Amino acid sequence: ADEAVLDPWGSSTVADYRKLFEQFGIEEFDDVLPAVPNPHYLMRRGVIFGHRDYSPVAEAMRNDEPFASLSGFMPTGDPHIGHKMVFDEIIWHQEQGADAYALIADLEAHAARELSWSEIDEHAESYILSLLALGFDPEEGELYRQSDNRELQDLAFELGAETNFSELQAIYDFDGETDVSHMQSVVTQMADILYPQLEEPKPTVIPVGPDQDPHMRLARDLAARMRYFGVTEAFASFEAEAVERTLLGQAYDAREAYAEDPEMPRCVEAADYLREHEPAPADARESVAEKLDNAGKEPIRPRTRIFDRNATDEAFEALIEAVDGEKRVYDEHVDAFDLDHAEADELARQVELDTGGYGFLPPSSIYHRFMTGLTGGKMSSSIPASHISLLDDPEEGYDKVKAATTGGRATAEEQREKGGKADECPVYELYAYLLSGDDDEFAEEVYEECVGGERLCGGCKEQAAELMEAFLEEHQEKRAEWEDKLDELDIDLDS
Ligand code: SF4
Repeated sequence: ADEAVLDPWGSSTVADYRKLFEQFGIEEFDDVLPAVPNPHYLMRRGVIFGHRDYSPVAEAMRNDEPFASLSGFMPTGDPHIGHKMVFDEIIWHQEQGADAYALIADLEAHAARELSWSEIDEHAESYILSLLALGFDPEEGELYRQSDNRELQDLAFELGAETNFSELQAIYDFDGETDVSHMQSVVTQMADILYPQLEEPKPTVIPVGPDQDPHMRLARDLAARMRYFGVTEAFASFEAEAVERTLLGQAYDAREAYAEDPEMPRCVEAADYLREHEPAPADARESVAEKLDNAGKEPIRPRTRIFDRNATDEAFEALIEAVDGEKRVYDEHVDAFDLDHAEADELARQVELDTGGYGFLPPSSIYHRFMTGLTGGKMSSSIPASHISLLDDPEEGYDKVKAATTGGRATAEEQREKGGKADECPVYELYAYLLSGDDDEFAEEVYEECVGGERLCGGCKEQAAELMEAFLEEHQEKRAEWEDKLDELDIDLDS
């Protein structure tokens, strides 16, 4: 059932999207909408229907604090009107003050889709041109190609150290035949998602289709996993006495909190690891050192882990005894700091930062509905009549809209009587997703006239086809202008 729901182009009805809320814990966008200043029309019209953790992004927007937005594009063909939605989402966040990133996922296209480098080169520039033509500001934002970005690859390597095969197998259904490059492309994608936070952690939103949610869950998990690694390191440092004492309480809290959460098995593991490695407070260490000394053993040196893998059984028991004796102190810490989960998490993140770690905030995501194909069914890059490419000749775009399936009734009489089915009409989707732009009144007018029987499909499609033709003409003119300027920009898009 999971696969059915997360099939990229298969989910187009509201009923299917509801499953995502129930099964995967994606939250309804409507709940966070009031917190968004000047929401985009895709948000207002429910095309962006879900989110994970968008509140910190909305809050940063409201308070004029740093935040980021990033999306990647696999250059598997020409960009089409489905991609335009994602371009618009990135551009809108940039206009609201986000550090905006767009990347060409060439390593992924090569590894996961087996595209040749020349095919990738052929399409990569096209995505960037459409993004620029739609309003992306390249001076303020960053455009990159995965294969060109060394920092990204270094981060991917780090993240790879926290990811293992069985996990990828469970998430992506990888098996013994899966090639290593494909796995590398997954950690590269994880690195893309966390890349905007490399210099400074900040709320980051990734606009995606719901089929991409498994990536988001892994990325959010990895962000936390890097953190717990950092905390473990902080624990290991006797220098950070105060931090250590604080975090010990927090580790207990975290273990409790995560034990309930089936999505965070690694965090439970991390918390158990912490317990295993937890250093005793200073007085306990002294008593251990003393006991070791009395037993004629090497005292445990400061600045090393108290859990010494080479310790003898005797020393180890002395250690356990000391730690057990101090359990009371730990419990007091938990009470004394009285941390709730979010506070503890934030504290751990700060410590990670203080100790030279990344301090990633879990990345947020927003999910948009997929457009229905013009011929009904799914919109597919491989079926030209089902979609409109941003590179289609404007007249061809006109013709495709004219030939589209509608939610109209069998006869004009019936339509006048019962009204059209705008909710099932790919042409209405064009109005709502693209042709009405920011004009809610116009989109509503089309809808009301359709369901009220005042609007008939012939005229409705003619109007949509003309708007589409005009849109493509204007878009392609702007693309041509950017094509001339592309050389001046410092964007190297060739491999
Ligand atoms: Fe679709 Fe327009 Fe026909 Fe309504 S009138 S069903 S919106 S084409």
